[in-house]
Amino acid sequence: MAMDELTEPLTQGNRRALSRAITLIESTRPDHRARAVALMAELPRRQALRIGLSGTPGVGKSTFIEAFGKMLTAQGLKVAVLAVDPSSARSGGSILGDKTRMEELSRDPNAFIRPSPSRAELGGVARRTRETVRLCEAAGFDVVLIETVGVGQSETLVAEMSDLFILLLAPAGGDELQGVKRGIMEIADLILVNKADGDLRETALRTVADYAGALRLLRKRPYDPEGFPKALPVSAYTGEGLEKAWDNMTWLADWRRDHGHFVARRAEQARHWFLSELRAGLLARLERPEVRARLREVGDAVARGEGDPDSAAAQMLDWLDASDAGLQAH
Ligand code: GDP
Repeated sequence: MAMDELTEPLTQGNRRALSRAITLIESTRPDHRARAVALMAELPRRQALRIGLSGTPGVGKSTFIEAFGKMLTAQGLKVAVLAVDPSSARSGGSILGDKTRMEELSRDPNAFIRPSPSRAELGGVARRTRETVRLCEAAGFDVVLIETVGVGQSETLVAEMSDLFILLLAPAGGDELQGVKRGIMEIADLILVNKADGDLRETALRTVADYAGALRLLRKRPYDPEGFPKALPVSAYTGEGLEKAWDNMTWLADWRRDHGHFVARRAEQARHWFLSELRAGLLARLERPEVRARLREVGDAVARGEGDPDSAAAQMLDWLDASDAGLQAH
């Protein structure tokens, strides 16, 4: 079979081809979907460092990514910035849709910025973003940053597609430490307290100390070297701490590579995504018109007290098996 026309330019790092491939992947049209799956299958497997970055609106994510991204591209690294933002469908604009964000980075030939796919459902956004990460890797990017605002499950989903997970926080009084959910602390590899400059510097340093203390109280994770996860101060404005943050990220990634944790994590993620994709596929089957009609019928019957829910569900599953077999016979 002939190769997809996008495959070659994409693997050579052509950004237009990359954009077009992402648009293809985000499309729900069945023919686009089929082409996207075929395209993914023929792309070379390359590896970027996948960094998840989370922070509530206003902590300085875009300012940080702009400064941090420019620092990396100045070192000759190719940086892709993606976003997982479930609210983008609702608000009509994504967290990266605003053109004024990351203005310089977006003009940098070594950077590629792509807003969140707009979809109402977080699972769908995450799936497409995960595939986009793969496209960026195939296109030769060294670092893929996946940004998210902390809404719903988005942090967990981003952590599940990242090698490193960074939590960006603002300087705050000690009692606000409670504001960060424990579950998020537990998945963070690095906490960066931004705005450690000017009047906010002292508060930022105190916040770093508070979080360092909180991190020490968490259960030790088998994939962490001594001293991780850790908290550090940064300033996206002055650039202070950005080098150190990057050094810590690469050091941690190298350590995990050397100790087998890097590969193990990706393997675990692949297994997880396979199962979640399968689950999504199975649920999609329940959306077929004839299945929906049947579901409604049986649901009504159960509601009227004709038959109990468990046996009705068992019969429904048998019916689905039979109808799938019927479909396959065609
Ligand atoms: P986002 O909503 O997380 O993307 O945050 P933005 O990057 O839009 O920044 C929110 C506000 O914080 C803006 O007014 C920025 O100018 C400000 N800000 C971002 N980074 C810094 C920093 O390092 N120091 C200070 N003092 N302000 C910052």
